[in-house]
Order: sequence, then structure tokens, then C-alpha cells
Amino acid sequence: MAKKVTPLMQQYNTIKAKYPDALLLFRVGDFYETFGEDAVKSAKILNITLTARNNGGDQTELAGFPHHSLNTYLPKLVMAGCRVAICDQLEDPKQTKKIVKRGVTELVTPGVAINDDILQSKSNNFLAAVHVGKKYYGVAFLDISTGEFLTAEGSLEYIEKLLQNFSPSEVLFNKQKRKWVAETFGDRYHVFHLEDWIYQTDYALETLQKQFDTSGLKGFGVAHLEEGIIAAGAALHYLSETQHNQLEHITRIAPIAEDAYVWMDRFTIRNLELYQPNQPGAITLLDVIDKTISPMGGRMLKRWMALPLKDSEKIAQRHEVVSYLLDHPEVLEKAQQYIKRMGDLERLVSKTATGKINPREVVHLKNSLEAVVPIKALAEQSNNGSLQDIGKRLNDCEVLRDKIKETLNEEAPVAIGKGNAIADGVSAELDELRAIATGGKDYLDAMLQRESERTGITSLKIASNNVFGYYIEVRNTHKDKVPEEWIRKQTLVSAERYITEELKEYEAKILGAEEKILSLEQQLFQELLQHLLQFIGQIQQTATLIAQIDCLASFAHQAKTHRYSRPLLDDSFDLDIKEGRHPVIEQQLPPDSPFIANDVFLDRDNQQIIMITGPNMSGKSAILRQTALIVLLAQMGSFVPASAVRMGCVDKIFTRVGASDNISMGESTFMVEMNETASILNNISERSLVLLDEIGRGTSTYDGISIAWAISEYLHEHPSHAKTLFATHYHELNEMTETFDRIKNYNVSVKEMKDNVLFLRKLVPGGSHHSFGIHVAKMAGMPKAVLLRANKVLKRLEKSHSSEELSDRMKEISQEEMQLSFFKLDDPLLEEIRDEILETDIDTLTPVEALMKLNEIKRMLQRSASVKFKK
Ligand code: ADP
Repeated sequence: MAKKVTPLMQQYNTIKAKYPDALLLFRVGDFYETFGEDAVKSAKILNITLTARNNGGDQTELAGFPHHSLNTYLPKLVMAGCRVAICDQLEDPKQTKKIVKRGVTELVTPGVAINDDILQSKSNNFLAAVHVGKKYYGVAFLDISTGEFLTAEGSLEYIEKLLQNFSPSEVLFNKQKRKWVAETFGDRYHVFHLEDWIYQTDYALETLQKQFDTSGLKGFGVAHLEEGIIAAGAALHYLSETQHNQLEHITRIAPIAEDAYVWMDRFTIRNLELYQPNQPGAITLLDVIDKTISPMGGRMLKRWMALPLKDSEKIAQRHEVVSYLLDHPEVLEKAQQYIKRMGDLERLVSKTATGKINPREVVHLKNSLEAVVPIKALAEQSNNGSLQDIGKRLNDCEVLRDKIKETLNEEAPVAIGKGNAIADGVSAELDELRAIATGGKDYLDAMLQRESERTGITSLKIASNNVFGYYIEVRNTHKDKVPEEWIRKQTLVSAERYITEELKEYEAKILGAEEKILSLEQQLFQELLQHLLQFIGQIQQTATLIAQIDCLASFAHQAKTHRYSRPLLDDSFDLDIKEGRHPVIEQQLPPDSPFIANDVFLDRDNQQIIMITGPNMSGKSAILRQTALIVLLAQMGSFVPASAVRMGCVDKIFTRVGASDNISMGESTFMVEMNETASILNNISERSLVLLDEIGRGTSTYDGISIAWAISEYLHEHPSHAKTLFATHYHELNEMTETFDRIKNYNVSVKEMKDNVLFLRKLVPGGSHHSFGIHVAKMAGMPKAVLLRANKVLKRLEKSHSSEELSDRMKEISQEEMQLSFFKLDDPLLEEIRDEILETDIDTLTPVEALMKLNEIKRMLQRSASVKFKK
């Protein structure tokens, strides 16, 4: 027998079939319901009750939540990685006798979100699309919440780096590439596959031109990016596929100009911990330097960090502004104060375009633009060229502000349906209706007065309830005075309620007025939004400029509070850092242990490669990283944590860290390390900065030394003469200076005490002679016996001169008597017991005494066990 399905479930099934890979929120009355697998999934994610509904003999799982909780639950679903289709009722259930028409009004996916609860204010929420072209890979990044749209193309490595930089919430590929995507990206991204036909030049061009209302893409400077355009087309297509059709705020697309920015591959970005810590909870460079105030400033700072400049003039312009703000602290302070008053201009504009803005937010938009006025004045009045230029281009949108001020009440509500959003004087009709609605009290008072006098009833009362609207209440004592034409509606214990013709008319008028007010307010608000649309471009530009000021002010603030200095960029190839500090470590040290600053000098002619040796924990990595971070900060336009820096622009920064912590992962980790390093060697240029941290330690000592040696030799002999810092604990590498004149030895100095080392953290010329790992182990609290043994083994091994000899010695050592004898362990109890036994003279011991001794030892052990247990 065929199962009987209710009409509601029939409708559900039809809609669900159109969105098979989305979780469908199905509006039924005041609830959003989910069914079947969707219900199981959402019950789990949202922690809501899973029930079952009898669907014609079949049990269907069911889970739902009240519709007004959508903003609470939707973000949770999206953040759990779900694509959520919101299916609403498309008509008023009261107006129809048949089943209510329903349809999907929005498909919310991680990459396509406008909801404030899903978005993080200081981060973009990018949707990325990748196109695998014949020669190149194309990529596009689109943030529907801000209107930003960027595209680029290049090698896979470049695309991977960009993906890492922009960290999109969702990445689109075509279906054909499913297998390749899984192999290449693993589960690094939230991936969605689109139909293959979408990835075509013609279709992409058509989609983009329609969006921008142009007949070509030349004006945007992207016309030559064939693969990039296809990716951009796919991203835009996805928006329409997810029912986002009001996209007036996506007004342009911009190329990511690869040549304009410092190249950092994804390993480098990760190693330097720019915005993602390598260990949970660790502090990143962004955490330390982000002193921006506005959300758009915060987002721009991230962008600047991902894309440091290479053009020394542009960099100097930023430094110039920072300098000006430092010299004029009152301007800095005021600018930051005004920025504080601003909302997220970019997102407010995007909400306007998508029709998701509410009246209160429009007022907020106006107030944000109001704060532009004094900032514009500050910038224009400065005697700094770049600031003046920004000031001139800032648009405070006076006409728009006036329009909003005229149209909306300053205290406009969040929901337009609450009324009182539109100001008085905007519409004569609205004012009249409001007079009727609010004038009601006076009217009723007058009526009460009149009827009291006419009937002689002194205790008349007029009120209303939901059942029969307005009524007159008469106490029982006056019942007989009630006029005939009053209609009795309700009898209470001590009173009766009546309605009259006049009250009915009055009620109709008031109710009509209220309804009309709401629809009129709605209409006027929509008109205002329509009017707002023409200003989108101007507000977006202003938002960008404010973001720039915010970033530069953040640099100034940081420079002031942490004594950063202005770097000098020249045309040389040198990197000359005086008293450089690590921006992150220096802020984490306890007050009583100051950060030790260090000089680093590198050039192409004499000191191209510095070999830094020193024991573990002495500060080698810190020097490497701080060098990269100082260069990066300088080229972002920031001041730097050093007393002075002079440098030529760097065009690529590479850092590699040898595997060690994850040595247990075995050979593959070492392979990865070698692959990563190989890609540097194939990409270095004259202006590159290369930082190698313990490369080669992921394999045996001799292998490691050989590889490190060969890499250094390659870098030295390569015509680029790329500047390099190589940190290693293989002091054998110090030998290289004998043969290679541009390699110099330095070490991070330590002071050797009797059986300890003191870290001085000073980088000084010269190599070091032995490794100090054992000292560090001691500091880490290793048992003394382990340390003693390690020292002995080391001494023995050090005597070997070849790897054969080394392995022979290892064999010898391992065959010696039980090396770490049990009693040598530092357990005082065991020592005590040992002494007891050794002191006992078995020859004179009677059997009873022996038993007593045994008992005593047993009690010693029991005592210690119970003490341990109590702990
Ligand atoms: P290595 O690379 O030689 O093993 P690190 O560079 O990781 O050593 O430094 C170890 C720790 O020493 C760092 O985490 C930091 O806390 C501290 N440190 C490093 N350099 C300095 C410095 N110049 N001044 C103060 N403390 C430092």
C-alpha cells in the first residue's frame, strides 16, 4: 500500500528535493521545523529536543525552534559548517484556505553570511572561488558583508598563499575537480562544488558585466586575468544560487597585483604567526600590533599585513603620516575619538543594499557619517600631504545625512513594525493618522464625560480587551440607568459591559489608523533606503579612507607605547637593524626580565649569510623571527621595534623551521621540510630574505649537517646572493666560513657556570664549540641520574670521528651493564631502603629478626604509598 503523505510533508519534500545538500529550516506557523536527517543533525548541533511525528505510518524525526530565535540558532548551524536553507511562508496564512505557499528565501552558507551573529567584526568573511585553468589557477575573493571583490591568477603555490592570507570561510570549485581538491587541500577549507558549466569565460563575463552594468572589465584592471575572471564569475553566480539578489553594494572588482606586494608563501605566514598562532592560545603579531578602533580598520590592518608593500615611496608615505601623528598627539587622540563613534560603515552599506538594514542602523549610519566631518577637517588642516589627500577624498555625505535626519526619529526602533521610526513632518498623511491614534485618549475622555452627564451614571469606565474591543463598563448599582441603544456584551459579578455605535466607529478608525501608520512607515522607510542606494559608492570610499587613517593611527599608537622607530628605506640591498626586538616576545616577558635587543646586519657583498649557533633556548629563533617581523612591519608602513633600521626593500620573505617537535611523525615530516626548503631555493631573488631555523634536524646528525651545509652552499653560490639567517645547533657548520667568504659565524652568547648555563641572549661574532642541550634538560628538571648519564654518553660519542665509529660506540654503550641502575634514581625512600639492607649483617640475623626487618621495610613502603595517595 502506498504511504499516505500529508500535503504539508508533500510540500516539504518538493522543496527539500531542490536543496538536497542543505539543512532545510521549514517555517510552520511560529516555528522553524527540521525533519528526518536534518532534524537529527540540528538537534545535535543546537541541543534541542528531537521528537518523532507520525507521518502516515512512518516515523519522521522532527526538531524545531520558535521563529524569533532564528538569530540565535542560525549562526550555530552555519558555524558548525552547515548550509542552511531558510524556507518561509510566502503568504499570510489568514488569507488562504489552502496550504500556505512556501519557498526558500535565503541559503546561508559559511561564505555567504550577512547576519551579525555569524560575522566577526574585525574579520572579513570571504567566499573564495578557485578555477583550475590550463596554464594558471584563477581565484576570486568576495565578501558579501562588505562588498569587497578581488581576483588574481597564478601558480598553485600563489593561490595557496592567497587562500592562506584571506582565509575564506568557504571555497568553491567545480565538480570535476573533486578528487584533486581533496588531495590538494585535504580538509583545510569548507569546500563546495559547483556545476562545471559555471566555470566558463563567456558565462563569467556575462555575469560580471551584468552586475557592474558595464560592457567590459577593462575599467577594473582585471580584463587580462582570464582565469581570475572565471573564478570571479563563479563566486558571483553562487550568490544568486543562494538567493542573494540585492547586490547593489558590489560595485567593482579589483585585481590583487602580485608584483606590488612582498611575497610570503603559506609556510612563512604560518611560521611567523602573523594572525594564526601555531599553538592554541599563543599570541600573534596581529594581537600585539592591532590598535585599530573601527571594524573596517581592523580588517584593513589584516590586509596590510598579508600584503606588505614593495614600493618604497608608498611605504614612506605611510611612515610620513605615522610620523606626523606622533608629532601631533592631539590630532592622533582626536582622530581616534571620532573613529570610536563610528559603526561599521562598510557593513551598514552592504546591509542597505541587501535590504537587511533596520531603522536604528540607518540612524547609526548617519551618526557614523557625522563623525567623518571633524576627521575630514583634521586631515585637511594637517600639513601632511598624504593626510590632506585623504581628507579631501573623505565624503561626509551631508545631503544623505540631512535626508536621514529629516526622515527618521533619532530614537528609531530596531524593527520598523514597532512604529515611530519615521519623524514628524515627513508625511502629512502620517501625521494625521498619528493624531487620530494618539489623540484617542482625549477623545475617549470627552466621550466619557458626555455620556456620564447624559445618563447620570457617575462610575462609567471605558476600556478595551482583545475579545470585543472597546466597551463601556457600568457598575451594577447603575444598571437601570443604561440607555436602550447600548448593546450588552458581558456580565461580570458586579458590573456589565456594553458597546455602543459610537465606540464601534471610533474603534474602526483607530485600528485602521494604526494599520495604515505601519504600512506608511514601511513605505517611507523603503523609499529612504532606495534613496540611500545612490550613496553606496561614496560611503564605501569613505569607509576605506577611514580604515586607512585608523590603521595609521594604530601604528602611531603602537610606536608611542612601545618605543618603535621609523625605519629608513633606501635603494640598497642592505638590512641594517640596530637594537632590534621581537615585537611579540618583548611584550610577554615578565617585568623583571627585560628583552635583550640585538643588532643584525646583512648585505649582498660581505655578510650575506649569518650562521647563528647557540644552545637550545638561547634565542636563535627569536632573532630570526624578529628580523622577518621588523622587515614586514617596516614595509606595511609601520614603525619598528628597534632603535634604528636602514634597509632596501625586500621582495620575498621565506622562513622555514626544521621539524623536531613532531619528529614522531617520521620520515614524511622530513620530506615535507625538504620540499618546503626546495621551493625557496627555486624562488629566491636579489631582494629576498631567507630565514632557516634548524633545517636538517629532522634527520640523523650526519644527514642533517650535510643537508644544512649543502643548502647554505647553494644560497652562497646562487647569483641572487639572497640575504640569509641560518640558525643551527650544529656547530660543525661553523667550518663553512673557511671556504665561503660571505658566510659569517655568530652565536647567541651564554655564560657557562660550573654546571649550568646563563643565557645572555646577545648575538656576537664567532662560532660556538659544543652543544648545550644537556644543560637545558637540567633546567627543565630532568632527574640527575639521566643528566649524568647523558653527559657520559656525550663525552664518549664526541670522541668518534666518522659515522661508523659513532655507531660502533653506540653499540658499545648499549651493551654496558644496566646503565641507569634502579638505585641511582633520585628516590630518597629507595636510597633509605638500600642503606637498610646494606647495613644488615645477615650472618648474625635470627630468622625472627629477619622477619621484623622485612616488616619494617614493608611499613616504610606503605607509609610512603599513603603519603603519595593523600597528595
Ligand atoms: P632557540 O631558537 O635558540 O631554541 P628561542 O629563540 O626559541 O631559542 O628562545 C627561547 C626563549 O627565550 C623564548 O621563548 C623567549 O622567551 C626567550 N628569549 C629569546 N630571545 C630573547 C631576548 N633577546 N631577550 C629576552 N628573552 C629572550
